[in-house]
Amino acid sequence: MFLSRLVYYSRSRIGRDPQTLQTEIDRILESARLHNRPSKITGALAFDRTWFVQVLEGGREEITETLSRILVDPRHEDLVLTEVTAISERAFRQWAMTFVDDSGLTQEICTRFSISVPLNPPLMSTASLHGLVRALVETQARAGQIRT
Ligand code: FAD
Repeated sequence: MFLSRLVYYSRSRIGRDPQTLQTEIDRILESARLHNRPSKITGALAFDRTWFVQVLEGGREEITETLSRILVDPRHEDLVLTEVTAISERAFRQWAMTFVDDSGLTQEICTRFSISVPLNPPLMSTASLHGLVRALVETQARAGQIRT
């Protein structure tokens, strides 16, 4: 298998109602894990109520097939692909799709990636987007708050 990583950001269309947000995020994650496990796709989804940033890792055919479904999902829009690259190992190997919100966005993380709050993914490099998602996952995993 040729292992690849895909990174994108998109704008949420889910709205701000907390109950709707919770329901839709749960549905997205349930569906993602259902499809990703048999396809051996791993990754992480970060969400700050405005923006999604997602990292997908896996075989290039499987990633392409997954992206084609994600692209037509009406729960987000303005999807921008920032990277598709060959990788030798996965960063999120234990997760079919882990989820992080922006609660772990500390001053230390903002300084490390030269970002401000609220996030503005169009102004972030791919390295920053990927690094930020990794840092949020690591922070929330250390705090025992990771959603798997
Ligand atoms: P079905 O579940 O039968 O859905 C049919 C259509 O309805 C699809 O076009 C779907 O986009 C849409 N749909 C489904 N549920 C809703 C809803 N509650 N409201 C409005 N429209 C809906 N899927 C993965 O497999 N892997 C991922 O990693 C992944 N990540 C995602 C990240 C984000 C930010 C979003 C928004 C979605 C993600 N999805 C992911 C879900 C993906 O977009 C598809 O909904 C899912 O793969 C199911 O596709 P399906 O063909 O089985 O369609």
